[in-house]
Amino acid sequence: MKHRIVVLGAGYAGAFAAGNLARRLSPADTEITVVNAVPDFVERMRLHQLAAGRDIAFRRLTDVFAGTEVRLRLARVTGVDPERRTVTLAGEDGTGGENGRGGGAGELAYDTLLYALGSSVADHGVPGVAEHAFDVTGLASALRLRERLAGLGAGGSVLVVGEGLTGIEAATEFAETRPDLSVALAARGQLGAWLSPKARRHLRQAFDRLGITVHEHTVVEAVEPERAFTAGGGSLPADVTVWSAGFAVHPIAAASGLEVAATGQIVVDRTMRSVSHPDVYAAGDCAYAIGDNGRPLPMSCASAGVTNMQATAAIVARLTGAAIPTTALAYHGNHISLGRRDAIFQMVDGEARSKSWFLGGRTAARLKAGVLGAAAWGIAHPTFGLPKRKHRLPAPADRAGVGVAA
Ligand SMILES: Cc1cc2nc3c(=O)[nH]c(=O)nc-3n(C[C@H](O)[C@H](O)[C@H](O)COP(=O)(O)OP(=O)(O)OC[C@H]3O[C@@H](n4cnc5c(N)ncnc54)[C@H](O)[C@@H]3O)c2cc1C
Repeated sequence: MKHRIVVLGAGYAGAFAAGNLARRLSPADTEITVVNAVPDFVERMRLHQLAAGRDIAFRRLTDVFAGTEVRLRLARVTGVDPERRTVTLAGEDGTGGENGRGGGAGELAYDTLLYALGSSVADHGVPGVAEHAFDVTGLASALRLRERLAGLGAGGSVLVVGEGLTGIEAATEFAETRPDLSVALAARGQLGAWLSPKARRHLRQAFDRLGITVHEHTVVEAVEPERAFTAGGGSLPADVTVWSAGFAVHPIAAASGLEVAATGQIVVDRTMRSVSHPDVYAAGDCAYAIGDNGRPLPMSCASAGVTNMQATAAIVARLTGAAIPTTALAYHGNHISLGRRDAIFQMVDGEARSKSWFLGGRTAARLKAGVLGAAAWGIAHPTFGLPKRKHRLPAPADRAGVGVAA
């Protein structure tokens, strides 16, 4: 019987990992299935651009996995049972689908699971966010916001809540694409406080140039259809409130009995293996992985890259009986778009503090466009430049303990 590897989620971490595993393990004795809710590879880093009205064509996952024997199952993951080693699936209509041809909802059994379901918006329990606010963290919500912004007439007000990377990218993209709107950003602290002084100045100048109003030291405590209420009793006008106050992971992992951190992320060891269930690995936003600097890796595309590289290296090595390579778990910096023509590239040190050097302006914007393109290209070419040999697994009789032994 073939060893069944199931990958949950085909985002930056899962899609890359599945393609990588398929190109490194022989289909003669492994079967790789990817479960994803949507048929496209959604470039999540571009969802604020999509929401702003840019035309973006995402690649079909069937194209991403073309030439591999990866089985694509279009379905929503609703649960994981790590004791029985099964995953529960449902489609939007209650029926799952395989390679778009139907395949039925139900259970999927695995021998090795790679959990990479990413994250969605964190509403922090703030009243009105779920009902009235928009966000750019997922395809469906970004499309909803796109439709709302398209219908918003000149002079309409957009309030972005949150001064993190996504909030900054969203506010600048909206202001640049729709100069007829009044765009504001509510920041809990100081805008760009974590950046080096020069980068912070650059950011402030970009906001001024784009006419974005910044409300610093402003905590939004409730959202209504046309305004947001702030701590202290004030309110800000907002025909559209875009909630960008952080990411939260899906509660499936915590509900499954896997050991999770306070964030709900799956606690993994240095090889991205669950500390509670050795058949389960996690990568990307949903993994609580400690970087080489001793700090949890931030939810980011870069972290999705390093965690899935380590996870796939460990899975291949354990299945084939080889020594587990250690790949770097480092985070080097933030690359923030400020619309299409400007960006900030801010390097950080080992303690995650901004270095004084930063790159800003058109060169940084071109570099960021290159990073986005390279990330999407890399998903379909996960083993580019690596040896093409497909590894065989030991004979079934010798496989006992695979996925269990350290
Ligand atoms: C607007 C925006 C801009 C960003 N910009 C940057 C940036 O510049 N740099 C950076 O490093 N990071 C950036 N990020 C963060 C980055 O996109 C994420 O950290 C990254 O996508 C995480 O990769 P992942 O594979 O863990 O999750 P994802 O890419 O989110 O992939 C998760 C996959 O799982 C699927 N899925 C989720 N739930 C289910 C379910 N129940 N059933 C089936 N399938 C499911 C989803 O459809 C998706 O395909 C940005 C994020 C946003 C929203």
